[in-house]
Order: sequence, then structure tokens, then C-alpha cells
Amino acid sequence: MAILTPNASQDYITAPSNPLKAIYDKVVNRQRLTKQDGFDIINSNDLLGIGILADTARKIVTPPERQDHVYWVHNYHINITNVCEGTCRFCAFSRRSEKAMKAYFWTVEEIVEQVRNYPGVAELSEFHIVSGMTPKLNLEFYIDLFETLQANFPHVHIKGLTAAEIDYLAKLEGMTSEEVLKTLKAHGHGSMPGGGAEVFSDRVRELLYPDKITHWEWLEIHGLAHKLGMKSNATLLAGLGETWEERLDHILYVRDQQDQTGGFMTFIPLNCWYDNTAVDPANALTGVENLKLFALSRLMLDNVPYIKSYWIQHGMKMSQVSLSFGVNDLDGTVTQEKITHMAGSDTPQAITKADLVHMIRQAGKIPVERDTLYNIKQIFE
Ligand code: SF4
Repeated sequence: MAILTPNASQDYITAPSNPLKAIYDKVVNRQRLTKQDGFDIINSNDLLGIGILADTARKIVTPPERQDHVYWVHNYHINITNVCEGTCRFCAFSRRSEKAMKAYFWTVEEIVEQVRNYPGVAELSEFHIVSGMTPKLNLEFYIDLFETLQANFPHVHIKGLTAAEIDYLAKLEGMTSEEVLKTLKAHGHGSMPGGGAEVFSDRVRELLYPDKITHWEWLEIHGLAHKLGMKSNATLLAGLGETWEERLDHILYVRDQQDQTGGFMTFIPLNCWYDNTAVDPANALTGVENLKLFALSRLMLDNVPYIKSYWIQHGMKMSQVSLSFGVNDLDGTVTQEKITHMAGSDTPQAITKADLVHMIRQAGKIPVERDTLYNIKQIFE
């Protein structure tokens, strides 16, 4: 059980006149927040009060010895191809064919060569592998890739394939998603990233990604992975024109799934980037809305241990501030990210360990390098 020491923040939030006091009382008593509580958080203009609530919730779900930790992983992104049969209108990454401008497709040999040339390869913990969906990228390709990566870099965990990619492979190969997951797991697949969820709203899906798997299918595939003993993450892509209620419902769907199968490690509220997409940039979240969404995620998801700010999308400064709004993970060193940068992200494509450590320390927290499954590799006291 977490230990909460009295401080000025608690005096403020527990004042009888504070409208957020009732939610604070629920948080410290480990009572689950309702959808109405979620609306009360969303509708409050007391941003600092919301931060206090989220920071309190973060402490409550964190073991005392880890309370000031902020995690990151030394990871390397592999986006094998941008050729994709998907039609998502928010996507600037995909190309319809290999002949299209800026289309690319890496072979297994090319990927291994790139990783080998990466100066930090000896310290790597994780490959993060997500790509377009195209028949050339079939099950046989992935088996070859995973086996080859394992043979050459046995110290690196393979986190890869969104639920949408698993579903695509299943249809391509005439198999069930469970059979695909079992097969890949037997060849080195370690865990799943949280992408492909977008917003669990039929209304937004119909407008922007009607061909993508439904939210029920996304949740089902993650549930299958959890039952096979694989951990995974969950995302919410905000800034597509969704309402606050749709964001809140999305978070509650994740909470329900976690109650059933328990394999989500991290929830990641993402931001859409708009260059070369069909989405109106007027839908972008403001800074205050982003901080509210981080806090809302932490407060509603009492059963998910980590909330992540993906600095590639939120930027370094927003990510640092988010550490006071319930966030306790900053993803990782990344290296070679393509998907968000093709949509105009102006963040760097990689960050050094020293920069991450500095950023976390400046927020008054303890930087901790982890592996994919949150085993601690190094504490930077
Ligand atoms: S978001 Fe993914 S599935 Fe959709 S078009 Fe882009 S690469 Fe394809």
C-alpha cells in the first residue's frame, strides 16, 4: 500500500470547499471512479487540482519503493515498410504500393545490418516493430525476422505488431488471430505494442478508418495475447475530432478488458499529427487538454500500472510537465521513428540517455532505465 505524506497539495485538495475533494477521497480510499467522476474531472478548470489528484492516484498504484521513479527503455524502432493496404485518413506514413514516392521495404538482411551499425546496440533492450500491412509482409517474413533478430541480438526483447497487424496476418494466412499469436510467440515474439486502437468510437472510425478492425476486435486480440502470457500496451489516439465522452469511453473499455485479462502494462494517450493527412488540425488538443487527458487516464485506469507520455508526439517539454499529471513513463530512446515524423512531428528522431536522465531529474523524479516488462536495469539516483 502506498504511503502518502501530508503536504500543502493535500491541504488544498482536501479543503471542504474544493469541488474535487470527493474524487480525492475516492482515490485515497481505492474506490473505483465512475463515468460521472470522469466527467467531473473533464469539466473542472482546476488544472493544478487535477494534477494533484492524478499524482495521488499514481502514488496509490505504485509500490512505495518505486514512487518517484520515471521509466524509460533503451529501444529501437523498426518500421519494416510503409506500403499498406489500410486506408486510415489520419495516416501520413502509408503508401499504396512499392512504386509510390517515398515507399520503402526493408529485407531482413537490411534490418539486421541497420541494427548492427547502431552504436548503442550492445545496450539495447527492445525492438519496437510496427509496419504497413501488405501481403509481402506475411507470417513467413515475420518468423524469419524474429528468428534472425534473436540469433543476432539475443539480449533484445521483441515487442511488435499491433492488433490490426495480427488481424491482417490472420486473414492473409487463413488462420485465427490466436494461431498467429501462438506461432509468432514460438519464434520470439515477446509482447505487443498498443497501436491500432485509435479511438474506440464507431462514429470516428466510420469517418476516418472504416476498414480498420473494430474496437471489439482490438480488445479481443489483446485479450488473446494476455491469455497466452504475453503483455501488451494500450493507446488512445487523440485529436481526430473525438469528443471528451468518446475519450472517456475508450479509457473505460481498456479498464474493463484489463479487469478480465490483466495483461496491459501501460496506457499511452497519443496525439495526432496532421501534415499530409485528411484530418483537420483544428482538432489538435491544447496543452491543458493534454494534461487533463494524462490525468484522466491515470485516475480512471486504477488497474493499469503505468501511464506513458510518448515524447516523440508530445514533445520533451510537455512530457516533462506530464510527470506531475500521473505520467510515470517516457517511452525510450526510440531511434529511427518514421510514422509520426512523416506526419510533421518536429521532435528529434532519437534522444540520448543523458537527455532523458536530465529531463526527469529536472522534474524532481528519479530516472530509471527499464526493460520492456518493467524490470529495472539501472536507477540513476
Ligand atoms: S495507420 Fe497503419 S493501417 Fe492505417 S494506413 Fe497507416 S500504416 Fe496502414
